[in-house]
Amino acid sequence: MNQDAANPRPLAEIASYHAHIYFDGQTERHHAEWLRLRIGERFRVRLGNWHDKKVGPHDQAMYQVSFAKEVFASIVPWLMLNHQGLSILIHPNTTNPRRDHLIDPLWIGRPLAVHGETLPDDDEAEDALEPNTEPSLPV
Ligand code: ZN
Repeated sequence: MNQDAANPRPLAEIASYHAHIYFDGQTERHHAEWLRLRIGERFRVRLGNWHDKKVGPHDQAMYQVSFAKEVFASIVPWLMLNHQGLSILIHPNTTNPRRDHLIDPLWIGRPLAVHGETLPDDDEAEDALEPNTEPSLPV
């Protein structure tokens, strides 16, 4: 974790990003469904499976959105405006998943606990997953 101020970490460390869109209860699940549809209509991303139970380091039900670095500048501000009150974790994918989730992420909405203690701190950086959306609407 030592960081040399003379040598900041380069952006090249980031291979891709995830957004994790959390929900709790029926009302928030409906918001999450609304959001998922509209993300798919607007952004070239990989929409992950619904996880209606807690999985991995995540403290609530959620689904994952995997996206390339080029998409960040449009999808993140769009999520700021359209998150419907949901909590969204945005994290980079580097070679240190534990740090990506616990130290370096940003939150839209209310931050939640992340149980990342068991995540590896040395792994292969995950490239953006193959998009499964066909966006047709402007953002
Ligand atoms: Zn993730």
